[in-house]
Amino acid sequence: MADLRKDPVTGRWVIISTERQKRPSEFQIETVTTRPDSLCPFCEGHEDKTPPEILAYRNGTPANAKGWEVRVVPNKFPALRVEGNLDREGEGLFDRMNGIGAHEVIIETPDHSLTLATMNEQAIERVFWAWRDRVLDLKQDFRLRYIVIFKNHGASAGASLEHAHSQLIALPIVPREMGEELDGAKRHYQQKERCVFCDVIRQETKDGSRLISDSPEFVAMAPYAPRFPFETWLLPKRHASRFEDASRGEYASLARMVRETLQRMNSALLSPPYNLIVHSSPLQDNATEYYHWHIEIMPKLTRVAGFEWGTGFYINPTGPEEAADVLRRVKL
Ligand SMILES: [Zn+2]
Ligand SMILES: [Zn+2]
Ligand SMILES: [Zn+2]
Repeated sequence: MADLRKDPVTGRWVIISTERQKRPSEFQIETVTTRPDSLCPFCEGHEDKTPPEILAYRNGTPANAKGWEVRVVPNKFPALRVEGNLDREGEGLFDRMNGIGAHEVIIETPDHSLTLATMNEQAIERVFWAWRDRVLDLKQDFRLRYIVIFKNHGASAGASLEHAHSQLIALPIVPREMGEELDGAKRHYQQKERCVFCDVIRQETKDGSRLISDSPEFVAMAPYAPRFPFETWLLPKRHASRFEDASRGEYASLARMVRETLQRMNSALLSPPYNLIVHSSPLQDNATEYYHWHIEIMPKLTRVAGFEWGTGFYINPTGPEEAADVLRRVKL
């Protein structure tokens, strides 16, 4: 029997189709590997192959030269640009804006052979500091309303270069998916005077069936109504609405949990491609009681097909309890 489940935050329904249940090994997937690439523009020594850096963590070495740990550069083919004024106009039904924003690439390591699953914890933590530094800088531009930080790992997850990197897009609007989460969280708060994500953490740590791992600062869990097989959420236990407000200890703990979660996926799902997305409050909002930042990781194991596009409903062939169990059992 298929199981229809409703996400407690967004109210989005998903179909968990247990009849089509697949074992982790049955997914037709890409296994992501890194091959040496002498032309890779993100490798150390190739700094002249990217636009000049916006930010880099260096030990006294000159900008745009060797000797860095994390490097942030503008995207060579940006979806949006910072220059110009924000003009909004409408033609009858249709609204449009010019492409104000920013599109940046965070090169996570100078070493082509490493990934977030194999880098050391300090190196992963530095990536989070780079995300935070860029958010704090871009936030000063009041035209920008939202920053999406995301990572495409593997060609079928949308990565065009295999060297470990994440991306940041700053937008003059709040994207619809985020709007749905924010509205859902607000609704819950108005009814219960509690953060829905704090409620989820409390219930999931008590219940345990969808819990993947647990530390004093974070939980990794399969959500109750996941859109995709092995969809995983990492949530800070301390209530905070903005990623950039996390403490040093929380970034260190998150580094450990991201690394561990990706290692679990690599082991159980044969190094799958994945998308990782940071969900945080809109830029010009103050810290709120109702929203709770988190990270969502979606291994790319199935294709989104016509039914999903046509209905907004997702059919997920793996229940979250099974997914959590598989990931939890991985010996690290
Ligand atoms: Zn490279
Ligand atoms: Zn909360
Ligand atoms: Zn979210």
